[in-house]
Amino acid sequence: MAQLRLQFQSHLLPLAHTFTLSHSSRTHTPITFVAIQWDEYTGFGEAAMPPYLGETPESSERFYASLDFSWVDDPGDLASLKAYIDAHAAGHTAAKAALDIALHDLHAKRLGVPLYTLFGLNPSNSPTSSYTIGIHPKNELLEILPETEAFGLIKVKLGGDSDRETIQLIRDYTDKPLSVDVNQGWRDEKKALDEIFWLKEQGVIYVEQPMPKETTHAMEWLTEQSPLPTIADEAVQRLVDIPSLVGRYSGVNIKLMKCTGLREAFAMIQMARALELKVMIGCMTESSCGIAAAAHLSALADWVDLDGHFLLAKDPYVGLGFNGGVVQVSNEPGLGVRPNGLNWDD
Ligand code: MG
Repeated sequence: MAQLRLQFQSHLLPLAHTFTLSHSSRTHTPITFVAIQWDEYTGFGEAAMPPYLGETPESSERFYASLDFSWVDDPGDLASLKAYIDAHAAGHTAAKAALDIALHDLHAKRLGVPLYTLFGLNPSNSPTSSYTIGIHPKNELLEILPETEAFGLIKVKLGGDSDRETIQLIRDYTDKPLSVDVNQGWRDEKKALDEIFWLKEQGVIYVEQPMPKETTHAMEWLTEQSPLPTIADEAVQRLVDIPSLVGRYSGVNIKLMKCTGLREAFAMIQMARALELKVMIGCMTESSCGIAAAAHLSALADWVDLDGHFLLAKDPYVGLGFNGGVVQVSNEPGLGVRPNGLNWDD
């Protein structure tokens, strides 16, 4: 009988530019790639692990080595597989997401359908993706701005010392809509509200994680007063966190690496909609393998921020498209991506 076989390999991938947020700066990103085989089919997935979230290639590899798939007689039983993987150990959300992505890729390939079909979606409903600009000195910013050319929305990281100068510099360059991500960088809600009113005048359409994730009353006040939607990112990881956002934020940034993958992300989107929260689908710095998985769900989002693969110096997967600012999934079965320079055993 066929057996479910898991392979994994870790890489420290160089970034195209040093990436600076309000709390950190880095030149490489650690990723553990997985491949899951059944008969002649192989599903691909990845765990992208920005250092501040606590997972590492070592922790992922230990987690994978401790799993036992010998009980699996149907790799399409995604519900039982998720339950087993999730209950095996707490945390490890990115490591779990890699398995979930690979299992969905495998399942869709065995059915001969693109992954979005499993969720009943039409990918032509996917919104344009934003392109994220980190915190840079003025001379570097001027060099980076031409890279935003193909995108319909520019997401700007704020929370540094020169937020208004940064926005003004970008405004001198383009009149495209902007969004901002403060990464918890503002401490005073009254100052935050002043900034948001000013940002709205500059053509900003939403504000992501303006204050620290623990903030409750100040965030309720800010969201109530804010002329722009406020989006929770660091303040939410998984399905269980969604109800706590009601009244505190206008919407949620759902990322596969935070929430254990597609199956839970889909549930989070349904719950967010039921609670009248806006839905954004985001990513870490990851290859087009993980980005493709998120892009297969993006027809359900108000806003999409799926530019992680463009931030890598070299992408180890190919097959994902980009047209008119939209990250476009292929109509091939599964995720629609294939390895480019990564070696997997047959
Ligand atoms: Mg964010």
